[in-house]
Amino acid sequence: MAKYTITCKCGHEMTKKLFGKTADRERKIVWMEQNMLCPDCYKKQQNSLPLVAEKEICIVNKDGRFFVIKQGNSYAVKETLKEKGFFFGEYFPKDSQSMIPKKGWMIQDSEESTKILEELNIKIA
Ligand SMILES: [Zn+2]
Repeated sequence: MAKYTITCKCGHEMTKKLFGKTADRERKIVWMEQNMLCPDCYKKQQNSLPLVAEKEICIVNKDGRFFVIKQGNSYAVKETLKEKGFFFGEYFPKDSQSMIPKKGWMIQDSEESTKILEELNIKIA
């Protein structure tokens, strides 16, 4: 294991711990420099994306299909989401084989929630 200073594609530097063979580490560094944003730029990019919700199946204390916010800074609007009936819960992404649930803001899939999403300017993927 060693620490490397990587110049991200945004031009900012970050330090990464890398493991494995030297050739693999070097390949990984090249990939990161071409593809990765530093944590600050990544956060800004995520925050600038529009909110997008997808239908998923909730697994915690409620049954049925839910809209889960998957993209955008839902944290910034969490009070509004709560007011509108959203709750923070766990779900299994439908396109994943993983047994580890993900967490997100969700609302039961209904005609009313579709209107709420529209009202909050949240796109449905
Ligand atoms: Zn950056």
